[in-house]
Amino acid sequence: GADISARNIDNLSTHFPLCMQHLHRSLRRDAHLKHFGRLQYTLFLKGIGLNLEECLVFWRSAFHKVTDDQFNKEYRYNVRHVYGDVGGDSNRRSGGYSPFSCQKILTEHPPGPGEAHGCPYRHFNLDNLTALLQGVGISDQSVLRGVKEDKEKQKFHLACNRVFEHVHKNEMKQAKDEGIMTSAQLETIVHPNEYFKRSYLLKN
Ligand code: SF4
Repeated sequence: GADISARNIDNLSTHFPLCMQHLHRSLRRDAHLKHFGRLQYTLFLKGIGLNLEECLVFWRSAFHKVTDDQFNKEYRYNVRHVYGDVGGDSNRRSGGYSPFSCQKILTEHPPGPGEAHGCPYRHFNLDNLTALLQGVGISDQSVLRGVKEDKEKQKFHLACNRVFEHVHKNEMKQAKDEGIMTSAQLETIVHPNEYFKRSYLLKN
């Protein structure tokens, strides 16, 4: 089975969609993320199956510039809240919050200066988006051109699916040929956790 643990997030991040790769890279670079970045990323990690205990280990070690005291005061409670471990009865009963869909990420709380949440296909300018894609290993000119056109038409999740299909083209062909994945299962991805699940299935 999958090793969904704090120490394996760096490895697993190769299966993350660009929004979450950007959060992960920002976190590793700065040893910090602002509130909405922590929220978007924590919920995604919860959605891939990281349990509360491991999630706390993950954030504690990622925020290595803060003291234990600071971490406990300023960050621990929010992570527990997201998992429904603390908070009101209804939050606890429902197991906390649900991971954000692309729709929500694309339309709510656009990132301001110094914030890393949101959807890079929408919230980055073209130069920064291209640089980020190249940074995660996407340098194919026709893919980059396609992403540019999708972005111009505001078809952000089509850009995301285009990149997914490029990264997984061999595995997708094989999965279709072998009937492992039906075409319904290969429909457009509209949720970051679906992106992860599909990527992970295809590569493992
Ligand atoms: Fe993330 Fe969705 Fe944007 Fe893809 S389209 S980068 S999964 S928010």
